[in-house]
Amino acid sequence: MEHQPFENWILSGESPTASQLAELASHLVFCQHCQFTQEAILGVENLLSSATIESPSPGFTNRFRYLAANRKEEAKRLQSYFFLGGILAATVLVSSGYFTILMLTQSPANLISNLMTNAISLAFEIDELLVALKTWARYVPWPVSLTLGAVISNLVILISSAWLLSVWKVFTRGVKVHE
Ligand SMILES: [Zn+2]
Repeated sequence: MEHQPFENWILSGESPTASQLAELASHLVFCQHCQFTQEAILGVENLLSSATIESPSPGFTNRFRYLAANRKEEAKRLQSYFFLGGILAATVLVSSGYFTILMLTQSPANLISNLMTNAISLAFEIDELLVALKTWARYVPWPVSLTLGAVISNLVILISSAWLLSVWKVFTRGVKVHE
């Protein structure tokens, strides 16, 4: 069956003229192929429009104001994050090697102020990340998030396998050199 020019009209995204629209409608009545094409295009367009941040839905501005009003509560939560996780995160993240280098290159007063600065900026970053995640979850439909999550975790797996492989190659080459 000849699907042109109907397929072009569907795929171009431009609004066809009234006579073209009538032709298209009568073609769609009996052509399942073009029906599927149109449905797929509409589905993708719906998905994109609901996920596009540049063109927010009418309620977006109000919800954004609501979020801004909640910033005070966020600040309170930030304090609790800081007290609960700050000291722990600082101890875990500032590795002993880093600590030793700092001890060797800086005065104790500088060292303490640097550690404090790092801990505070870390707490802020964690809070920003949580807020961003909450905002994301609110405005992006979960199938999109799920797809993105799957893509990102696949990338992480790919990158870590590539890393393991290169370490393994270096390791086996090193063994051969010693033989
Ligand atoms: Zn067709």
